[in-house]
Amino acid sequence: MKAAVFENVGVWGVKEVPKPEIKKPDQVLIEVEACSICGTDVHITADPPGYIATEGTVLGHEFCGIIREKGERVDQLEIGDRVVVNPNNYCGKCVYCRKNLPNQCENIEALGIDYDGAFARYCVVSDKVAYKISNEVDASVAACAEPLACAVNGLNKVDIKPSDSAVVIGAGPIGLIIAMLLKKSGISRLFILETAPYRMEFTKGLNLGQVINPIEENAAEKIYKETEIGADYVFDVTGSQIAASMELVRKDGTIVLFGVNKQARKEIAQCEITTKEVRVLGTWLANATFPQAVKILEEEVIDMKSLITDTYPLEEIKEGMEKLRKGQAVKVIIKP
Ligand SMILES: [Zn+2]
Ligand SMILES: [Zn+2]
Repeated sequence: MKAAVFENVGVWGVKEVPKPEIKKPDQVLIEVEACSICGTDVHITADPPGYIATEGTVLGHEFCGIIREKGERVDQLEIGDRVVVNPNNYCGKCVYCRKNLPNQCENIEALGIDYDGAFARYCVVSDKVAYKISNEVDASVAACAEPLACAVNGLNKVDIKPSDSAVVIGAGPIGLIIAMLLKKSGISRLFILETAPYRMEFTKGLNLGQVINPIEENAAEKIYKETEIGADYVFDVTGSQIAASMELVRKDGTIVLFGVNKQARKEIAQCEITTKEVRVLGTWLANATFPQAVKILEEEVIDMKSLITDTYPLEEIKEGMEKLRKGQAVKVIIKP
């Protein structure tokens, strides 16, 4: 079968690989319907890479598909079931798994990064990370279950009340999913900070709230003018804006740090957290939030389809990746 394989730094592409086989009794073989390109894929294929993947691995970790074969110990899923997959396979045995924190598993393995993923016709995963989803959901929408499950994990850490205000820094797919969920949760006033022209225009079209370019405008002045005291919540989805978040959040407000930027080293005055009584929360991957994500998609709680800007066949994945790299797309779907 054809698959998009990461070879080594800066070298990757579609090539012929053997069809994967079920090797353990708890595994299922999935025929991939749709697989979304994640920002992580853009980082992996960059030179120098912003994220490290295992050489020779089939990329792709946000997907949905149909179970075509199953191991003898798979009892909750049937051949023909449509599933979405948590790409972060956990061991179920380590101290964090036993604390019901599979996202912090000490033996975590990432599909499409550490082992073969879903930019391919077929993919094999453990049954414990596959979740049934209705056939009614559009395949491209179902492929976005993983970023949604991660966003839900962040939202579950806070207690949004109607009339609360929030700032989302970064209007990439995750930032926009968070913004949509915040609106549904009762946020009355929402500000979205973004500097890329394409994404600014795209976000304005979604009508979620005020879109501010913090380079061209004084975001703090605008937000304080409307909220008087600063925002109740600030979500930094860029991984580097803790200092800006501290400025925008109100006293006794909450900052949620979502994005990962391993290079970011921001200087902040610790006493501001103390005296403003700010809560700073980190959120990482999806933590038992796939069932919630599946429900949100099945019941169309948010309009995930509005975030899908491009669809390509597997053979043209490089075009999709380049569009994302240039910031000229939001969600790009690959149909193998
Ligand atoms: Zn991802
Ligand atoms: Zn574990």
